[in-house]
Order: sequence, then structure tokens, then C-alpha cells
Amino acid sequence: MTSNDRCLFCRIAKGEIAARKVYEDDDVLAFHDINPQAPTHVIVIPRKHIPTLDDLDPNEATIVGTVITKLAQIARDLRLPSDGYRVVCNNGEAAGQTVFHIHFHLLGGRSFGWPPG
Ligand code: AMP
Ligand code: ZN
Repeated sequence: MTSNDRCLFCRIAKGEIAARKVYEDDDVLAFHDINPQAPTHVIVIPRKHIPTLDDLDPNEATIVGTVITKLAQIARDLRLPSDGYRVVCNNGEAAGQTVFHIHFHLLGGRSFGWPPG
């Protein structure tokens, strides 16, 4: 499995840095965000190190599909209302991405405005 020694989320995935995990399997890891922006704020990542959506190869499409499918299951397991949570993927610096390992924010427990900031 491709990993990057200098990547924070790879290091969390390898257990080198502690995180409050909510789910893990061979492909996907989910953990509570260290700086939550909602009552529930979980980060869901593929174990494979892919920096941004732009780096996704067409043959890796199933990776993102798997991550999103697991995210929806995690939302159900956390009993987030299925009509009321937000999924965010900041892609690139200008969009607010700070950790360059593809991840999806699962935010719930409050209402959300639109458009986002
Ligand atoms: P982004 O800004 O979209 O790249 O999201 C990165 C997220 O990772 C931010 O919401 C941070 O609060 C979160 N984060 C940074 N370091 C940690 C950590 N050690 N454990 C959990 N979440 C983290
Ligand atoms: Zn990584």
C-alpha cells in the first residue's frame, strides 16, 4: 500500500500518530478531527496516499467510491440524520486543503449555511 513517511494522515493510518479512530478496515480509516467545526466532525481517508483529487488515476476510482460508501455507513452508525449532514473535500490550497492526502470531512450535529465560506 502506497504510503508517504512525511504525510500526517499516512502516519495516523500507520499508528505512528494517535487519533480518535471511529472506523478502520484494510482500505479506509476514519477519525475525529482534532479541531472540530461541528458537534460531529470526522475525517475519512483512503489508506493509500493520494495527495489531491487531481492525482487520482482513473483506475483508482473505486478507492473514492469505497471511501464515500464507508463514510455514509459511518454517518448511519453515528446516528447522524441522513437528511442533515455535510461532506466536504477541500481540494488544493485555495480551497483550504492543508493536509495533502485525500480526505472527506463528515460534519453533522448542526445546520449548515450555503454557500460555504
Ligand atoms: P483540510 O484543511 O481540508 O486539509 O483538512 C485537514 C483537517 O485535518 C483539518 O480539519 C484539521 O483540523 C485536521 N487535523 C490536522 N491534524 C490532525 C490530527 N493530528 N488529528 C486529527 N485531525 C487533524
Ligand atoms: Zn498520506
